[in-house]
Amino acid sequence: MNKVLNEATVDVAIIGAGPSGAVAAALLRQQGHTVLVLERQTFPRFSIGESLLPQSMAYLEEAGMLQAVVEAGFQHKNGARFVHGDRSSEYDFRDKFSSGWGTTYQVERAAFDQILIDCAARAGADVRFGHEVRAMTTGDAPMLDVADAEGRPYRVEARFVLDASGFGRVLPRLLGLEAPTRFPVRSALFTHVFDCIPAGSTDRDKIVVAVHPEHRDVWFWMIPLAKGRTSVGCVAESAFLDVPEARRADVLRKMMKSEPTIGALIGDAQFCMPPRHIGGYSANVERLHGSGYALLGNAGEFLDPVFSSGVTIALRSAHLAAHTLHRQLGGASVDWASEFDEPLRRGIDTFRAFVERWYSGRLQDIIFHPHQSDSIRRMIAAVLAGYAWDETNPFVANPARRLDTLWELCAGASSVDASYPSLS
Ligand code: FAD
Repeated sequence: MNKVLNEATVDVAIIGAGPSGAVAAALLRQQGHTVLVLERQTFPRFSIGESLLPQSMAYLEEAGMLQAVVEAGFQHKNGARFVHGDRSSEYDFRDKFSSGWGTTYQVERAAFDQILIDCAARAGADVRFGHEVRAMTTGDAPMLDVADAEGRPYRVEARFVLDASGFGRVLPRLLGLEAPTRFPVRSALFTHVFDCIPAGSTDRDKIVVAVHPEHRDVWFWMIPLAKGRTSVGCVAESAFLDVPEARRADVLRKMMKSEPTIGALIGDAQFCMPPRHIGGYSANVERLHGSGYALLGNAGEFLDPVFSSGVTIALRSAHLAAHTLHRQLGGASVDWASEFDEPLRRGIDTFRAFVERWYSGRLQDIIFHPHQSDSIRRMIAAVLAGYAWDETNPFVANPARRLDTLWELCAGASSVDASYPSLS
């Protein structure tokens, strides 16, 4: 029988050392709170989610992590190129409606996540790798049951718990918080390749999002990374990609070659690792907080990978939670619904409107429309750059209505320029 170790008592216990956990830990340490981060894996470890959005840079800067990220030598990113057959449309994030960062990075997450959690540890967070959270008692003094790297159980008493466990979704599962997502079950099949892309044949500072030639709801990502590697993946409804492990490499290779742009650039490139598969990742919860806890990043809601919004939402949630929690720990009365859930959900809902219209084909019609107004492009570029909380942007203030109206104009006109003033 394993012995129960001494209990630990901290201000804030954080479950998971991914980007949301690391940034929350650093921000809370800046405010002088004691922070314990419990991470079940050992780092560095592979993770998917390599294309950042410029909005995320502000949170890295606030958390004191920017310099370490800049010095790491990751691949620069300044936009996205969408392709469908012979149609192509580029969004440059430096030319956008909202103010703020216009560039960011395409990162290998093993290195990126390590840098972030090292920064949090340098800021004074106690980070324990190989420690798995197994149970929680909610309340004013929440209690976590943890197993250390040798499987020995111990307890942590905290004044508050932040669940940053990503797809582990520890508290949604333990506390029965899960809610249905509106998205169909999709999967992704992906790998890294040694790309050997000749200089000048693609802009490595932009990710490529390529629509399958025949199926508009099937798409590919191509994310150039540093040191001659590229991340490539295919997303489709699960029936397409849920194949036995032994067939994954063949299926992914065949899919890559079926798309002209990806096929020409990296169709024959050597895989750096066996393809991985992840399915059923879209998830939701009834609420993002409860008695003594809040949910960050993917532990709360995850929409879809198509607009690379995951890490940005994760960092935004860490920023909002850390500020709300700092006030609470200082004795203020805070309302987590209006200070955390609602403001976070507003940006998530912006992305949701974009994701839904991507899969319905409406946003693709807009993106590939041959005649586009510069001002509307800048508004859409701002959302694609992660500024999904900037309510001065009409496509944030009312994303569904704006996109649908714009789509109707695109569908009915060879040029929508003349109609744009009526949208603003
Ligand atoms: P994570 O980064 O998942 O970290 C959670 C950590 O918690 C993990 O280290 C895990 O080991 C730990 N943990 C889990 N359970 C426990 C436990 N019981 N005890 C202790 N620790 C635990 N996002 C982007 O921004 N750009 C992209 O290009 C992008 N592409 C994607 C492609 C696909 C196919 C998918 C599925 C997602 C993609 N995402 C992308 C989303 C991105 O992966 C996530 O949004 C992001 O990693 C969330 O960060 P996080 O901090 O919430 O969780």
